[in-house]
Amino acid sequence: VNELVEDIKASFVVAPRKTETRVLKMPQTPRNAILTKIEITGVCGTDVHIWKNPPPNAKFPLPIGHEWISVIEEIGEEAEPYDVWGHRLQVGDRIAYRRPWHCGDCLYCSFLKVPWLCARSRPSRKETAAKPMSLPRIGAYANYSYVLPGDLIFKVPESLPSEIAVLADPLGTALYTRECMDRAGLVVAIQGSGPIGLLSLFCAKLGGAWKTIVIGGPESRLKLCEEFGADHTINIFEVADPQERIEIVKSLTPENQGPDVVVEAAGVPIAFYEGLEMIRKAGVYVEVGHFTPRGKIEIDPRTILRKNITIRGFTAYPWQNFVYSLRILDRYQRQYPLDKMVSHRFSLDDVQKALEAAEQGIAMKAAMVP
Ligand SMILES: [Zn+2]
Ligand SMILES: [Zn+2]
Repeated sequence: VNELVEDIKASFVVAPRKTETRVLKMPQTPRNAILTKIEITGVCGTDVHIWKNPPPNAKFPLPIGHEWISVIEEIGEEAEPYDVWGHRLQVGDRIAYRRPWHCGDCLYCSFLKVPWLCARSRPSRKETAAKPMSLPRIGAYANYSYVLPGDLIFKVPESLPSEIAVLADPLGTALYTRECMDRAGLVVAIQGSGPIGLLSLFCAKLGGAWKTIVIGGPESRLKLCEEFGADHTINIFEVADPQERIEIVKSLTPENQGPDVVVEAAGVPIAFYEGLEMIRKAGVYVEVGHFTPRGKIEIDPRTILRKNITIRGFTAYPWQNFVYSLRILDRYQRQYPLDKMVSHRFSLDDVQKALEAAEQGIAMKAAMVP
């Protein structure tokens, strides 16, 4: 047993809507692993979904969470402490890291360059073989964590606080929406004012959007969107009629043509219908809201044909976006109120409350601070 460190404290989903925080004995750090102390973990919408609806084949206790910033505490003798640039890392370095779940060899991984759609959905056999078996299965809702062979490590810039760096993961997704805004001067409408919606707005601003419109709620979230530079916000609780929302958005665009780009980050089926109706002809519609099942909506496919709409969906993003996310967060932290995004902080004993705050939209972004 390692004497330098405390016990591991980790939270798990133990049943639908039920979490439990457990204390585990800290094992000796495996020779090929890196022990890190977690500074902050972001509560992701996916975590909320897993908590509410654990997969049918889930093995309880189920570790959750993937948005973590941690500090290197111990480096195993045979571990490879290198970041993605090949720089050697040391104890005390602050890192973000990603555990890829792709094989690297299949068609999706190697030729189509969408490794998150990997046909095998698992790391290569070489990496699996290198995984130390002695470690407890813990996720990001913990005070400690392990970097394992094959993990991608990104060093956090010194000047970037962990509370902002923790946005690197959702910003990675939002950066993907930015690829659909292929020029400056666009009218961009964003449906949804949660973290992905707000960060998509941020990316639209960085990309030189001419006008930005956010459709969402509650008021506190829209207020932050305005602080990020949203030109117009439409509160869905005040304007409850989808038809009315479509007309307002169109009226805010030149000749009532509709936005050039619409980003669906609400994760509400009706929003998809609204987006298709409000977007201008030959517009680009980005679907990044329905990460989890939310139901269905009736649409007329002819709308897509008639208006020549391009629809793009993203379920994840290229891992290298982490590099750009961290750079952007560091560079723009003083121009944009990025420090206001993590609005609620919880200890590991209050995971249940953190998930509830995220679920109810009380928090812009909830975070666990062990
Ligand atoms: Zn996430
Ligand atoms: Zn693959």
